[in-house]
Amino acid sequence: VTGQDFLIRRRLVAADLAECRLDALIVSHGPNIRYLTGFSGSNALLFLSGDKSLLFTDPRYEIQAGEETTCKVRVAQGSLLTVLAKSIRRRSVRRIGFEKSCLSFGAYETLKKALPPGVSLTPSGGVVELRRMVKSEDEIALIRRSVLTNSRAFAGSIRYIRPGVRESDLAAHLEFRMRRLGAQAPAFEAIVAFGERSALPHARPTAKTLVNNQLLLIDMGANVDGYASDMTRMAFLGRPGPRVRRMYDAVLRAQLAAVSSVREGVTAEEVDRAARRVLKVEGLDRAFVHSTGHGLGLEIHELPRLGKGDRTFLKAGMAITIEPGVYLQGFGGIRIEDTVLVTRNGCDVLTPTSRELIVL
Ligand code: ZN
Ligand code: ZN
Repeated sequence: VTGQDFLIRRRLVAADLAECRLDALIVSHGPNIRYLTGFSGSNALLFLSGDKSLLFTDPRYEIQAGEETTCKVRVAQGSLLTVLAKSIRRRSVRRIGFEKSCLSFGAYETLKKALPPGVSLTPSGGVVELRRMVKSEDEIALIRRSVLTNSRAFAGSIRYIRPGVRESDLAAHLEFRMRRLGAQAPAFEAIVAFGERSALPHARPTAKTLVNNQLLLIDMGANVDGYASDMTRMAFLGRPGPRVRRMYDAVLRAQLAAVSSVREGVTAEEVDRAARRVLKVEGLDRAFVHSTGHGLGLEIHELPRLGKGDRTFLKAGMAITIEPGVYLQGFGGIRIEDTVLVTRNGCDVLTPTSRELIVL
């Protein structure tokens, strides 16, 4: 991604702002700032307006900002908000949007007080996030790399699955391998859950050890140059009984049905419905307690949400996950998750790892 690409992104968002009758947008959400400028430091604010955008950060990030962005940078001593307000007072902008879900009330109050009465602050929702849904070729290449790195880290960790291993040991192996393979970090804390604990969709790894005849759920993702991947696979230590087999088969068929429903032009909720329909026939729909998937990119959870009520039309270039699951308290849970790329006529399943239950 070049400086020119970031400039084009800022121009597109500025055009969206004009449609909402806004002169400028204060961007405070880190991943949005990274998307629009390339800057990945943790303390920054972006004032976006036409092509006169200005990035504010503090002296710790001066060198990094010089390396990462071609956007004009103002290195501020002290509060970024105060310096930003001062800079706004010198401009002829009147209607300024701010990210309503990413600016604290305290920050809003500070800004409001520092701005002249003629300047209005308007809550704005998801202008940048909507633009981020469809990925560019460069972004797709990074997501592919992230997915491959993640799958390799998984494949290299299977040999550690044996009696006596702790959930936390396995999580540590996965993250270690991932970093050795070039990931900067995990995209999120790996979920490793044994036995009954797999019924917790977002279980945190504990010191619990693996014993024979147990299911295990592994949900992991890599962060490669800022881009996320996401995959869930199931294994069984011993010989899975008919109940596990039946549940696994139902979730796999639901996952395949959802994957085959993906193509440009269908809505996000239609994909969710495709998975739910299969589980309903099996009487397992009530055990499917979350949505079928989510967009991913610079963040692990992005738009769209593949669930009931999201009528976003899928478009070629969207990267999404497909991850139906069923969870039975006291027994366990099963989820199968792939990262896929929406195409004109269907989708490209990026995850290369087999979807079969891994029997060890
Ligand atoms: Zn996941
Ligand atoms: Zn996911």
